[in-house]
Amino acid sequence: MGFSYLILMVTIATAFASPINNQIHLLKPHSGSAGYKHSNLNCLSWRLAVETDNLQDWTVVPQECADYVGHYMLGKQYRQDCDYVAAEAYKYAKGLNLTGDGKDVWVFDIDETTLSNLPYYALDTVAFGAIPYNATLFDEWVTKAAAPAIPGNLKLYKQLVRLGFKIVFLSGTREAFEQPRIRNLKAVGYTQWEKLILKGDNDHGNAVEYKSSKRKALEEAGYRIRGNIGDQWSDLLGSNAGDRTFKVPDPMYYIG
Ligand SMILES: [Mg+2]
Repeated sequence: MGFSYLILMVTIATAFASPINNQIHLLKPHSGSAGYKHSNLNCLSWRLAVETDNLQDWTVVPQECADYVGHYMLGKQYRQDCDYVAAEAYKYAKGLNLTGDGKDVWVFDIDETTLSNLPYYALDTVAFGAIPYNATLFDEWVTKAAAPAIPGNLKLYKQLVRLGFKIVFLSGTREAFEQPRIRNLKAVGYTQWEKLILKGDNDHGNAVEYKSSKRKALEEAGYRIRGNIGDQWSDLLGSNAGDRTFKVPDPMYYIG
């Protein structure tokens, strides 16, 4: 304990005794900063509630958060959040012992997990989900097979294939769109898979029921779902969810 320690203690004591202490309060975020506060809704709080599934059954992005969601999706944060999830998934995957019998599978959802519909969601007529969902317009977009890959998840896909996992794409997309979906997947680098499961006319129930029943059928066929990644909680909840699930961010829409 020497002179420098004494100086430090005096400095700290002075800080707490002087108006400097009050400046700490000046560092409090003001309206419009990190949380992008408008009216009574803090959009960062809203997004956190969405990602944690504390907020359920919402139909559109609140009007006052449309800009916030747009900036998030088009900026670095969304990309980095996706990369972080993918990196954690890979860390987990490479620690698993695969049996080599071709039955260890990883389930990927497609929309906002494998492929990004951001070029569509960024349109003025969609406003990042702040305008109610229009099935006709979205179907037209899917038919174009022009969705880019989500870079972090494409990388994860390639890493999983290299590790020996079989890939299963399980999507709520209807079977009528099988051809454009296959074209789109292949065009952006998803070149192989064990199964591509789309929603048929005989598939009923909500997303959780539909996806659970398809995963159950996979396991009944002898597959082991070692991992499961999706942007909706309905991709990850229900039965036969997989040994571990990974949630990709998506503040643009909710599928229950
Ligand atoms: Mg999805």
